[in-house]
Amino acid sequence: MGWTNYHGHCEYCDGQGKIEDYVQKAIELKMSAIGISSHAPVPFPTDWNMPKYKLSDYLNEVDQLKAKYKGQIEVYKSLEVDYIPDMISPKSDLIIKSDLDYTVGSVHFIGQLKDGTHWAVDAPVDEFKQGLEETFNGDIKAAARKYYELQREMIADTTPDIIGHMDKIKMHNKALKLFDEQAQWYLDEVHQTLELIKEKGVIVEINTKAYFRDGHLFPGPEHFAKLKELNIPITINSDAHHPDRLTNAFEEVAQMLVDAGFTHTSELVDGRWQTVALSPEGILVKV
Ligand SMILES: [Zn+2]
Ligand SMILES: [Zn+2]
Repeated sequence: MGWTNYHGHCEYCDGQGKIEDYVQKAIELKMSAIGISSHAPVPFPTDWNMPKYKLSDYLNEVDQLKAKYKGQIEVYKSLEVDYIPDMISPKSDLIIKSDLDYTVGSVHFIGQLKDGTHWAVDAPVDEFKQGLEETFNGDIKAAARKYYELQREMIADTTPDIIGHMDKIKMHNKALKLFDEQAQWYLDEVHQTLELIKEKGVIVEINTKAYFRDGHLFPGPEHFAKLKELNIPITINSDAHHPDRLTNAFEEVAQMLVDAGFTHTSELVDGRWQTVALSPEGILVKV
């Protein structure tokens, strides 16, 4: 019994600590697998993406650690790849050439500010408000629709293995109270996206990064029933930016999933995605 995590960062992007710190912590936590998924480079400067010149060192380092810790833990090589039409996607040459074990596809950028800066939906609250004003004239419905539309485009055209934090557009909704997350127009966007996810065989991560900070899960538990109904494969990821947060809130979230009727998660075992039994204490990988 143990845990896995396929979404985590490190000092190559905006995470704290070396890749090896994460691997060693994962071994200490008796995890069976860890996937390293730094933010892939984008063709403009940001505070969190890996600069392009560091990419080959990053890939080599993960390969070396994979070999070094063989027999102790399975280390997987990945990137959290943005989807920005005509700029970057899980099927960009740069990503294909990286020879990854899997991809996490995430939409962060959905527009540009007046000065040309790309606006990310998970920017700090003031920047979020500014972006909403400058990009969508304050129309949250238009912004949310664009967010889900881009996710569907990414899933249909460039199909990642895992979709990152699929309802992150709601991140500031608790504080700013911008829209009703139970409104039909919003649920239609979420459900349409989930149906495409099912059709394309993409795994939905339950992203626990913010759970202890403000109670957020991405996607939130209000969507668990739909995930279950559509029989969509899920996995629990912490989106760790520090080795200490590798299994952040996993027990709590696993319990919620079990309560919602989930009995299995999707896990990389020997390099293949497999269906593995889930319990509140962990997943059961037969070795
Ligand atoms: Zn992300
Ligand atoms: Zn991330």
